[in-house]
Amino acid sequence: MPVGEGLGLDPAGYAARAEQLATLIPVGVFACDAQGRITFYNRRAAELWGRAPALDRDDGSYCGAARVWRLDGSLMARNETPTAQAIALGKRVRDQELILERPDGSRLACSMSVEPQCDGSGHVSGAIAVIQDITERKRAEELLTRQADLLSQTHDAIFAWQWDGTIVFWNRGAERLYGYSATEALGKRTYQLLRMEAPRDFEQLRHRLSRDGQCVEERIQTARDGRPLHVESRLVLSRSFDAQPVVLETNRDITDRKRAEEELREHARTLEAVNRDNANLYRAVQKELAEHKAAEEAVRQREAEFQLLAELMPIVVFITDQKGELLYVNHWWTQLTGLALEQSRGERWSQALHPEDLNRVLQAWRNGLEAGVPFAEELRLRRASDGEYVWHIARATPVRDDAGRIVKWFGTQTDIDAQKRAEERLERAVKERTAKLRETVGELEAFSYSVSHDLRAPLRAMYGYSVALMEDAADRLNPNEREYLGRISRAAQRLDRLINDVLTYSRLARTEVRFDRVDLDRVVREILLQYPSLQPGKAEVRICPPLGHVLGHEALVMQGVSNLMINAAKFVRPGQRPVVTVWTEPVSGERLRLWIQDNGIGISAHNLGRIFGMFQRLNPDVEYEGTGIGLSIVKKAVERMGGEVGVESEEGVGSRFWIELKRL
Ligand code: ADP
Repeated sequence: MPVGEGLGLDPAGYAARAEQLATLIPVGVFACDAQGRITFYNRRAAELWGRAPALDRDDGSYCGAARVWRLDGSLMARNETPTAQAIALGKRVRDQELILERPDGSRLACSMSVEPQCDGSGHVSGAIAVIQDITERKRAEELLTRQADLLSQTHDAIFAWQWDGTIVFWNRGAERLYGYSATEALGKRTYQLLRMEAPRDFEQLRHRLSRDGQCVEERIQTARDGRPLHVESRLVLSRSFDAQPVVLETNRDITDRKRAEEELREHARTLEAVNRDNANLYRAVQKELAEHKAAEEAVRQREAEFQLLAELMPIVVFITDQKGELLYVNHWWTQLTGLALEQSRGERWSQALHPEDLNRVLQAWRNGLEAGVPFAEELRLRRASDGEYVWHIARATPVRDDAGRIVKWFGTQTDIDAQKRAEERLERAVKERTAKLRETVGELEAFSYSVSHDLRAPLRAMYGYSVALMEDAADRLNPNEREYLGRISRAAQRLDRLINDVLTYSRLARTEVRFDRVDLDRVVREILLQYPSLQPGKAEVRICPPLGHVLGHEALVMQGVSNLMINAAKFVRPGQRPVVTVWTEPVSGERLRLWIQDNGIGISAHNLGRIFGMFQRLNPDVEYEGTGIGLSIVKKAVERMGGEVGVESEEGVGSRFWIELKRL
């Protein structure tokens, strides 16, 4: 169908319309035949060419421009032009970019598309070409390329990422900073590659970007080698040509700056600390100075107080140097002795001493000074006012420095005259009274002795006559009278024993103790021989030799041991055979303990404490005869020899008495 037929136009009308249209459209349109002769062109084409070539001329130019250049700047032959190519190959050419040169030499970047035209037999008869001025676009592209190039060259790391973080641009600066090449970086997610933010932070960043369109912040990213990078990021949200959001991120490495800042801060802190230290030091020094001053002041005050006190105290106060040379003495000294400080220097102070005390005190003072030990001595000082001697106690103590060296001596002399005189009086009184007491005791002892003696004679008479009466008149007496007589003789006997014991006791008290080596084995042997109750027929006595030796008075030892052994054999239940065991054991303090154990009635615990007392008896006389003096005698005898007695007992089982004396 011929062109334009369907539009209801005649061919001439169609051509006119097409031409009108071609004039109106803002692109250049031209047609040429198979030989390259231009058969049609519109106004825009002429504008682009810069000329209006004649139609149908046999110039075979395929294009109306003066010359055609390739984009790389090389000249394009006419038969190489897109029109010639389309005609030669019968193929359409799309958007081939080239440069058209106008007759005035000016050039235009154009894009040319060519459509080959065929005749009825299918042969290419020509072509229609459309030229579009792309100079502006090219310029813009060039600018962009240059800018991109610039971006690539710039020192800052610049990269762009799509909304999901996918990197689409990565400049050299980014390569340098992060160590990833563009090939490595492109297509990766920014936050993963630079190992920086958690997805949530990424979300917040995108939120800020979509709200503000841009943002500036400092962030920590990680370089390929793991180095942390402190960057200052500038992010700008823009839209790509297809309206997709793209974020351009420009990062400047501020790691060094940060480090420098940190160092600066550190310096500042150090400086501050130093300042603080200085301030503290200053304060400390100030404080110390103040304390020092206060201490000095306190010392001064103490000295003043001390002087005042020393003057006020009613005692002599003195200070000497380390050698004993008098440095200070309070006014009491002068007042008492009449000696001023000057008159007391050296050892001249001793002229106030009582002649009897002089040597002793001087010697003690010199010894004290030499040994560096406190001095204390009682002495008499001559009172200047009346020439009387007054008792004092002199004391001095060394004062040492920090190194322990004696620097001074502080001393006092306190009046103890009244006390001393009271003591003397007391001593005299005690002596007098003791002498009197001794006299009285002596008299008393003599009295009791003589009484006991004197009592014995009538007692013997009573006993003797009662026995004689019994022997002579027994058959004339009725049983009652005989009983009375028996009682009289028994009572007389008992009284005799009592007197005997009292005499023994008082003798003990008066006997002069002569210490000797006492053979206990011999003592016990003798006792066994002497006392009927300890004979084998009466008791079983077990001795565990050797008993050893003690320091004592033999008669006293004999007295004590025999009393205990007799008691041991006596205090048994009726009908029981007494078993008495005697042994010794060494005890501490170089003593020997002699044990006398029995199998008798024993002593209850609450009675143990009193049995050594005079006249203490636990059993009625009818059961066990006795006077209650035996154990008192034991105690007295042992104590007089510097020993001790004691007992352990269990009622109903037996007792163990002991005597402890110095072992030899
Ligand atoms: P006496 O034997 O003359 O009664 P002592 O002074 O010897 O007096 O003893 C005082 C008391 O201690 C005794 O009456 C007796 O009750 C008690 N006593 C002494 N020795 C023993 C002993 N071996 N066993 C039990 N009781 C004893």
